[in-house]
Amino acid sequence: MSRKKYMPKLLKEFQDIYENPDNLKTFYIYYISLVNFVKKHPKYFTKSIKDAWGLSELMAINPMEYIVEKPDLSLGMEKRGIGSIDFGSADTLAMSISSTLWDMITIYSEKECPFTPDMELRYVKNVSDCGSETIILECSQCGWTENLKGEEYKGPFGKILPVNKQELQKLKY
Ligand SMILES: [Zn+2]
Repeated sequence: MSRKKYMPKLLKEFQDIYENPDNLKTFYIYYISLVNFVKKHPKYFTKSIKDAWGLSELMAINPMEYIVEKPDLSLGMEKRGIGSIDFGSADTLAMSISSTLWDMITIYSEKECPFTPDMELRYVKNVSDCGSETIILECSQCGWTENLKGEEYKGPFGKILPVNKQELQKLKY
């Protein structure tokens, strides 16, 4: 089966997001625009694709509570960046959307990954299958995880969710 059959239409619609500057007015609006795009196309963004890239979790949060002050992306550059890539499949597009959403909500720890040079660990919430929540540090590049004391975190692993400022502040008191 040829991927090309459906991708141009989906891709065109994705790139249209970037043709309308209103969609990129604020990080919040941009976040919502990407989420709505994924929601609109369940045929392409299947449950397994969403699960593979953690999109369901990113779509379920209220971005108001998560978007950081200085996200690691520039709204003015997005059109020439992700908006101009010729994605070959819904899967690679989902991966990029996920990483773009993460860029807007990631709180970094100022601690470097012991294995990936120049890669700062990010705070994430690990929700295990039995429902217990642990905030840990994760390298988005190699997947290294450690607890807040700096020791390797070995699991149990479940869903990885973003952490917001309020949740982090609670930890400190
Ligand atoms: Zn790493």
